[in-house]
Amino acid sequence: MSRRVRASGRALVLARAPYGESSLVVRVLTAEHGPQRLLARGAHRAKSAFAWTLDLFDELELRWSTPQHGGLGNLEAGTVRIRRRRIPADLERYRAALCGLELADLVARPGEDEGALFAGLGALLQALDAEGPLPAPAEGLLATFEARLLADLGLMPALEGCAVCGGTAPADQPSERGSGPRAPFSSGAGGRLCRSCALDARNAGRRVGTLAERDLLALQQAGSGQPPADADRAHKAHEIAARFLDYHLDTLPRTHQRFASAPRP
Ligand SMILES: [Zn+2]
Repeated sequence: MSRRVRASGRALVLARAPYGESSLVVRVLTAEHGPQRLLARGAHRAKSAFAWTLDLFDELELRWSTPQHGGLGNLEAGTVRIRRRRIPADLERYRAALCGLELADLVARPGEDEGALFAGLGALLQALDAEGPLPAPAEGLLATFEARLLADLGLMPALEGCAVCGGTAPADQPSERGSGPRAPFSSGAGGRLCRSCALDARNAGRRVGTLAERDLLALQQAGSGQPPADADRAHKAHEIAARFLDYHLDTLPRTHQRFASAPRP
């Protein structure tokens, strides 16, 4: 029999899938052991030790074992540390939280310490579980998480100056539908562009669009920990961050497909 490695600690469920007739496979992000895939035997049985403990959004305390060389682990015990009931009860909170989980699922690297990601995701879920009105629109809280994630991944787009030459990048493009002044923007070129670098990027075959300056600055603000207070700014800041992440992660999380409405710049 192969040796197994035992571990325990705080965890957040990122995704759940049924396994056999009564079991679940959960993907969790742990505070100290990165992402793990764990089999929860009999989780759907009322008498199971895991019944009611493996819900999305809650912070859990888990004990598990994994094969020495990685692969599907075995969940051995679990308790709920923080129950977050207000998220599934509200569609806006639920969508933003789900999007956060999917993003974390996408970027968490097996075998790495993902403590910062765990802390960021936990902070997002805690904010979305606020009693009474949220401190900011749900998408604004999400944009704050996304902006931090972009920064941690070294992917934060240029939002004020030009991504290529570092010079000023004036918002001198015509306004669309009352969006205010717009600046050239290209995900492939690293974000906001000055007029001449936008021209170079286009000539090099990159897609260059325009984004409203106020939306770029809303994402910038989110990156400094201040979620946009206005619902429309919050939506746009999230949209820019999500598209940029989609482009650079080369994959499209399901919730982003649902959120994305305008053509990709
Ligand atoms: Zn430039």
